[in-house]
Amino acid sequence: MDRKHFLKSLALLPIAASGMRLKDLNKITEPLPATEKMPVLFLGHGSPMNAIEENEFVTGFRNVTKQIPKPNAILCISAHWETNGTFVTTMQSPPTIHDFGGFPQALFNVQYPAPGNPQLANETKSIIKKTIVGLDDKWGLDHGAWSVIKHLYPNADVPVIQLSLDYNQSPQYHYDLAKEISSLRNKGVLIIGSGNMVHNLGMVAWDKLNVADYGFDWALEARQKMKDFILNDNHQSLINYKQQGRPFQLAIPSAEHYLPLLYTLALKEKYESINLFNDKPVAGSLTMTSVRIG
Ligand code: ZN
Repeated sequence: MDRKHFLKSLALLPIAASGMRLKDLNKITEPLPATEKMPVLFLGHGSPMNAIEENEFVTGFRNVTKQIPKPNAILCISAHWETNGTFVTTMQSPPTIHDFGGFPQALFNVQYPAPGNPQLANETKSIIKKTIVGLDDKWGLDHGAWSVIKHLYPNADVPVIQLSLDYNQSPQYHYDLAKEISSLRNKGVLIIGSGNMVHNLGMVAWDKLNVADYGFDWALEARQKMKDFILNDNHQSLINYKQQGRPFQLAIPSAEHYLPLLYTLALKEKYESINLFNDKPVAGSLTMTSVRIG
């Protein structure tokens, strides 16, 4: 936030507060007081093994926490929680979900005991008008969330809730819904989209897993176009990804790993800066490209 905007928002605060009746103040205002606007992240999570490996991507995740204020809470939109309708997790202690198979026991042993935040879940439900958001007490933290958040906050001392992806909805719907949660950024909430921009598991070059920066031509082309659209605030072209030609079709064979990017971009204010990091292809058909806004 630049100084002018910061001063302006400071000046508006007392007016906004006095304009609210006490009964309208959700409990959220106590644990999550008004703050300077929090950045927003899109994190390319890649293989679940990134949770326990030391590599350049993990370093990139750790570095980002040095560049942003410590949040009061995290709201994560993960590629790995698709539902019929939209839900938020409401439990006090979300379980660590090991939603994968065929990995070493060490990965199944990982626990990420960050608390939940029922107040934030209720606040999220109340500010989304596009749909009736369900309160969920059965999910928890899937690996799209914990495999990356554990590198940001290894002490698990920041509460985390998840917002699900409604698999019935269009990219435009998701983008518009994301805009409705923007006020959380002013309550110390770090909103994280976790997926991968280029993500085609059916075309992974298994023989190139250990070859650094290996990307198929179409993956590199899609990566470059996506970055150009992101840096030029051309969100409509990213929303209309199905019209962007064969590289995009191969990069996004299904929407779930891509949609969290749209959530992140929808929250960008015009004046905010964009930083890309972990911008590398992996195994031919994935990219780890991650975004920090603000
Ligand atoms: Zn994934």
